[in-house]
Amino acid sequence: MSHSSRLNEPLSRPAGAGRFAPSPSGDLHVGNLRTAVLAWLFARATGRRFLLRVEDLDRVREGARERQLTDLTELGLDWDGDVVSQSHRLQRYEDAIAKLHAAGLTYECFCTRREIQKAASAPHSPQGAYPGTCRNLTPDEHADRLAGGRPPALRLRADVTSFTIDDVLHGSFSGMVDDLVLRRGDGTPAYNLAVVVDDAAQGIDQVVRGDDLLSSAPRQAYLAGLLGLTAPIYAHVALALNEDGKRLAKRDGAVTLTDLKALGRTPSDVLGVLATSLGLAAPGEVVDLGIVLDRFDPARLPCEPWVVRPPTPPQSP
Ligand code: GLU
Repeated sequence: MSHSSRLNEPLSRPAGAGRFAPSPSGDLHVGNLRTAVLAWLFARATGRRFLLRVEDLDRVREGARERQLTDLTELGLDWDGDVVSQSHRLQRYEDAIAKLHAAGLTYECFCTRREIQKAASAPHSPQGAYPGTCRNLTPDEHADRLAGGRPPALRLRADVTSFTIDDVLHGSFSGMVDDLVLRRGDGTPAYNLAVVVDDAAQGIDQVVRGDDLLSSAPRQAYLAGLLGLTAPIYAHVALALNEDGKRLAKRDGAVTLTDLKALGRTPSDVLGVLATSLGLAAPGEVVDLGIVLDRFDPARLPCEPWVVRPPTPPQSP
């Protein structure tokens, strides 16, 4: 597929910001690092600022944030302004929820995970969609459920079942929208809400991330519209896979920068491997991010996933 016609528009837009938004649940592997490099390249190639946001509303592992930032710096990435942490921005999410609530667009949901899974796997239900069990509870039913003692989640009362976005790499993409969770039963704002609120509040108008999140983009863009916000330009990039064709994971071997440094690879070696995987360096060539940026042409980005063969540790005699 040629991306060039679609790319002209974002490349000529006035400068906003791109971003990388890791969850500090562990070390970044080379697939995550490659996505970070791509987000940086897309932003810098289009004159945008590049922001870092730590998505720490759940699954936080001690020290992961610091290690992630160090890894990104060692690869040569820079960012503008301070790193933002979602856990410091809870009021903004509550303000957005209040706005939706005032517009009659929320309801409380008492379903357990198991109930949702069971209902969502029914034949008439779109894949994984919340079936709306608690959408129209009568006041008595609501009171009964509340008396059950289980703190409710808050859901969006969506009035569409699908929404279409435009993606720089995937073109027009339609995806499912359901009554997504805005705030979990434990009080934590949901990812889909936080990401929409933050991207808009930070002036982010270009979202480059792994294509595992492509299916979430329609519901996020729809939610942005309900909040009176403009959805960003999306570019969902191919993920890194292991040799079995599964999504790369830490158990696949030496796949983090720390692992690779322990095997004698320098950050520059790793950047070279990432650039080679993007068609922006010859195998073994020494490059820095400036060189890679000069060569970067999103229209020529490989569309297929990157298959990673982690180096094996030297055999002991
Ligand atoms: N925090 C998410 C992750 O690490 C990324 C969210 C996003 O880029 O929208 O998978």
